[in-house]
Amino acid sequence: MKKGHLFILSGPAGVGKGTLRKILFREVEDLEYSVSCTTRKMRAGEAEGRDYHYISRDEFEGMADRGEFLEWAEVHRNRYGTRKSDVERVLNEGRDIVLEIDVKGCRKIKESEPEAIRIFITAPSLDELENRLEERGTETSEQMGVRLRNAAAEMKHAAEYDHVIVNHDVARASRELVEIIKSYRNAGRQCDDLQQP
Ligand code: 5GP
Repeated sequence: MKKGHLFILSGPAGVGKGTLRKILFREVEDLEYSVSCTTRKMRAGEAEGRDYHYISRDEFEGMADRGEFLEWAEVHRNRYGTRKSDVERVLNEGRDIVLEIDVKGCRKIKESEPEAIRIFITAPSLDELENRLEERGTETSEQMGVRLRNAAAEMKHAAEYDHVIVNHDVARASRELVEIIKSYRNAGRQCDDLQQP
């Protein structure tokens, strides 16, 4: 059976990845989301198993030692990891999966999964990003400082990605994201049709 597509979404904190992802999953059927494990605390409005698997640092280290992560990284002073078994199961079933991970994680995945399609979501400017993080109000000012410093560094890596979406407004950015995902699916279907006897 043909393997599914692996889509990687990256972008700085506050850029609107979560909102775009929610719209994507409403608009495109039969997509799976890879729920990462994290050592960070659950935010208000988040749910175990839907946004993340919230685990302790010890549990995280155990999983990392047993080689259960496809990749993991320390981001904003917490650890985040993608479970290998989840991703492999979905891809081997021929279904498509979306990972929302940072730039370091994306590089690691690309080594083991060279076919991965990388999409970077960026903001019109750093000032705009700062405003959005302030509006979101989920971080302390210290955490926000860390995230903004990381954002500046992350935005420099946009050129490594296959597609870059500038999130000026959610409607336009989500349309672009949906179109990118559908274009890979349609290309796959056209190849299948051509191979039919
Ligand atoms: P947040 O704490 O805002 O949910 O996520 C912080 C950052 O961690 C985001 O850039 C997000 O993409 C990244 N992230 C989430 N899960 C993973 C993961 O499994 N691996 C890696 N490398 N980064 C992740």
